[in-house]
Amino acid sequence: MNCPRCNVPLKTVEAGGIQVDMCPQCEGSWYDLAELNRMFALQDRALQPSGLAVPRTRAADLDQPVACLKCSQEMERGRYLSDCDVLVDRCPEHGIWLDGGELKALLDHMAGTVHEKPGLLQALRRLFE
Ligand SMILES: [Zn+2]
Ligand SMILES: [Zn+2]
Repeated sequence: MNCPRCNVPLKTVEAGGIQVDMCPQCEGSWYDLAELNRMFALQDRALQPSGLAVPRTRAADLDQPVACLKCSQEMERGRYLSDCDVLVDRCPEHGIWLDGGELKALLDHMAGTVHEKPGLLQALRRLFE
C-alpha cells in the first residue's frame, strides 16, 4: 500500500504487538479494523508505541482529504472520540488513517482518561462494529 498523501510505499512497523503501516515521509499511519480492535484490546501496551519513531523528512498537506487505502473512497474526517479533539480520517468499512502526530495525541488522550473511564476502550471498539 502507498501513503495516500505522499504516494510512497508504507513501511510495516510493529507497535505493542500489532502491525502498523506507516509512511516514512509524513509519519501518517494506517490501521485496518482488525488491527485497531487488537490495539485497543492491548490497552496499556498500546499506550507505548515506541516502535513508531520514524524520522520526519517532509510534511504532507494535511488538509487534503484522504482516500481509503483499501477501497479508494474518500474517507470521513471527524473526531474519533467524542471527548477528544483529535480528527482522524476514517473509512467505515476498512479502517482509519492517522496523520503524523495524531496517533500520539490519541494515545496521550487515552492515557489521561482511561483510568477514570474504564468503559472508554469498549466505546472505541463499538465505533467499528
Ligand atoms: Zn506520507
Ligand atoms: Zn475503504
